[in-house]
Amino acid sequence: MPMGRLSSFFSLPGISAGKKGAVMIQEENKQLIDKLHAQHSLTKPDWITLISNFTDDDRAYAADIAREIAQSKFGNRVFIRGIVEFSNYCKNDCLYCGIRRSNGRAQRYRLTDDEILSCCAEGYEIGYRTFVLQSGEDMTYTADRIAALVRRIKADFPDCAVTLSLGEREYDELKQMKEAGADRYLLRHETANQQHYELLHPAAMSFSHRMRCLHDLKALGYQTGAGMMIGAPYQTAEHLAEDMLFLREFEPHMIGMGPFLPHQDTPFAKEPKGSYELTLFLLSLCRIMLPNVLLPATTALGTIHPLGREQGILAGANVIMPNLSPTAVRKKYMLYDNKICTEDRSADCRFCLHQRMKAIGYEITVARGDYSDD
Ligand code: SF4
Repeated sequence: MPMGRLSSFFSLPGISAGKKGAVMIQEENKQLIDKLHAQHSLTKPDWITLISNFTDDDRAYAADIAREIAQSKFGNRVFIRGIVEFSNYCKNDCLYCGIRRSNGRAQRYRLTDDEILSCCAEGYEIGYRTFVLQSGEDMTYTADRIAALVRRIKADFPDCAVTLSLGEREYDELKQMKEAGADRYLLRHETANQQHYELLHPAAMSFSHRMRCLHDLKALGYQTGAGMMIGAPYQTAEHLAEDMLFLREFEPHMIGMGPFLPHQDTPFAKEPKGSYELTLFLLSLCRIMLPNVLLPATTALGTIHPLGREQGILAGANVIMPNLSPTAVRKKYMLYDNKICTEDRSADCRFCLHQRMKAIGYEITVARGDYSDD
């Protein structure tokens, strides 16, 4: 599908195109994309150049390469992961998050273990072979409890993968859950720049602890996901360049990356949304940099644009993560405003995505979709 054509350049705060002509910049950008394709890495100045000033032509150029790489690795198959958002309680107070502790307007809920199991059963029936258990940092769900839950899911659905997305936990807890059978863990690093991290999080949260957690996850053998929001408040092109360098070095198995979207009951309520175009561009660049990575076209991408998930797949993504939570609680897990698919039943989402993928020449596969180096 052809990408739309925009003649203007995209710019981020603190960085300008200088006096270079548009044609020169575009030529330089294409060379940088080719360099990334050949070497799978760029220098920090290279990243800043690419991220600061790109055109829709650059984006289409990168998307073509990224899509070709994804096709060579995964064909036209898109993996699906069913997310069970089992608790919106959180002990943290991240400034961007709609379920942060200080949001007194959030309607809190917790699912029982049996309710979580029944979401998985419903998901299994309609073809899901990965369950993502996601929550705020809710310590009611101790490592013992999560480990027991993982064992039950694995016993009931032995051909399925279990992904955890519970926020930061200590090494022993992560180890216990891994030994119980958890396969994967998603923990966005959010930003690789400590000063930026401190602008997005309260003082009680620690950049080094988050990074340590990510390294623990990998050391424990989890298929590990990192990632960041594009266009988060205070973010500059230099920060994003540092994110890309971090991702290159850390080599996560998954990268969760979507546009920043504000939530009305947070301190960032009035901040502008992240750029849809920059998110798509960075998805393509991630695919080119780490060809085997599992790369979701996120719900946030589908929220910022009605065809965001389709365009994400066409930009090189290969995963979609629909909701398996009971419809009654979906609206309560509102990390940002206007989140899509909060009224649909799981089977409707599954059918809708099937149609959406078919419309762009892709098909949803029921395979587990584990990371592979091949
Ligand atoms: S982003 Fe995660 S850790 Fe932070 S407040 Fe929201 S749910 Fe809690």
